Amino acid sequence: MPSPVLRFAPSPNGRLHLGHAYSALLNAAFAAEMRGRLLLRLEDIDPLRCRPDLAAAVIDDLSWLGLSFEAPVRRQSEHMADYRAVLDGLRERGLAYPCFCSRRAVAAAASGSDPDGAPLYPGTCRGRPDAGALIAAGHPHAWRLDGEAARAQARDGLAVTVFAAPGATSVRPAAPARWGDAVIARKDVPTSYHLAVVWDDAVQGVSHVVRGRDLDAATDLHVLLQALLGLPGPAYHHHALIRDPAGEKLSKSLGSVALAALRREGVTAPEVWRRLGFRPGPGGAPILIR
Ligand code: GLU
Repeated sequence: MPSPVLRFAPSPNGRLHLGHAYSALLNAAFAAEMRGRLLLRLEDIDPLRCRPDLAAAVIDDLSWLGLSFEAPVRRQSEHMADYRAVLDGLRERGLAYPCFCSRRAVAAAASGSDPDGAPLYPGTCRGRPDAGALIAAGHPHAWRLDGEAARAQARDGLAVTVFAAPGATSVRPAAPARWGDAVIARKDVPTSYHLAVVWDDAVQGVSHVVRGRDLDAATDLHVLLQALLGLPGPAYHHHALIRDPAGEKLSKSLGSVALAALRREGVTAPEVWRRLGFRPGPGGAPILIR
């Protein structure tokens, strides 16, 4: 049996906060419990928001927290040619189409919301006869998955393997239709979060994905993409989100819970572990206090 492979995959578009620390510690705790490998991936596809100094700060915060990851760190910005090739493959199979709509146009024409609460795309650009001409004329465009065609090719029976704790695996049906025609490549880069995360988890041999509950619904789209691309599906654990004292989901805008701010205030890494419900195990890896 190959060793389990886990990964922590932050986006370096801000400083890490306590929510990230929880996710990283849980990945490390599960990896230790499963005697698995632990990888770090920087999801830096956004050329404007992801900056090299923030990427360096993420790595520094993780090492301050006392976590170590197998080298090398994978940076998504270095793999754009691969994502483009994957996208081209989906286009050639008639599973993706260019979308020229602005955010505002999508919001105005939307027929409901996707699981993230964003406007559900009504398919305005699907089958547009002038698409080739618009591209040739240099009009900016994203690429969307043709959801119906994709589901027809992937066939029924899509399922997500989930695990509540190491070894406690079960299966739930996936419902990717609620994402409609999701963006698989943004206007500025030849991928979106969804395409890159699915590709990278496969390339890195990730067997167990541990991430926040805010990405639970996205997994339905991820298993559809895995089925289309013939990629293995990891098992997923979506953990509860750490809330701030007012019960709100943490966001990077809340500077008070950034690890950098805690460090400045003199909070130590062991205190952060304790606050988040972890203690050091025999080899120094975190153990979740259940
Ligand atoms: N990069 C994503 C984030 O920082 C996490 C992606 C994932 O774990 O699948 O929210």
